[in-house]
Amino acid sequence: MERQFGGGGRSFGGERRFGGPRRFSSGPREMHKAVCSECKQECEVPFKPTEGKPVFCLSCFKKKRDSEGGGFGNR
Ligand SMILES: [Zn+2]
Repeated sequence: MERQFGGGGRSFGGERRFGGPRRFSSGPREMHKAVCSECKQECEVPFKPTEGKPVFCLSCFKKKRDSEGGGFGNR
């Protein structure tokens, strides 16, 4: 008994590749050296730091986001 895949009516020929149309994934994301305005530590951010704007390292960024919350009142 042999079952051939795709021998029946079901064919996988039209399968779409997952995450097809996205084009920006060319290798690892570029990291930029920056100094965190919170803890003054050197860090790397996945975006280009804008001059005059505060840059936060990952931990400070998370901390800030946590403390700001989503507007559910203060806990
Ligand atoms: Zn920091």
